[in-house]
Amino acid sequence: MESDPHDFTAYVHPVLAVGCPDCGKPIGVWCVRPSGHRASGLHRSRRMEADRVFIDQHGENAAINRTADGWTISK
Ligand SMILES: [Zn+2]
Repeated sequence: MESDPHDFTAYVHPVLAVGCPDCGKPIGVWCVRPSGHRASGLHRSRRMEADRVFIDQHGENAAINRTADGWTISK
């Protein structure tokens, strides 16, 4: 795991700030189904990983909220 901070506000969805342990997609790339089609959602393991890293970086009381032009992190 790289040690650079993940930027949870930089992508269309905060979970994209981590790579997917399930389908292997890198940071910033949406999950795909085994067939190669874009998945409608993000893999559960990736969402859990994003949660873990987010709490690691921002603390358990932080939250990420959608704004008009992206995402913002509040504590
Ligand atoms: Zn995935």
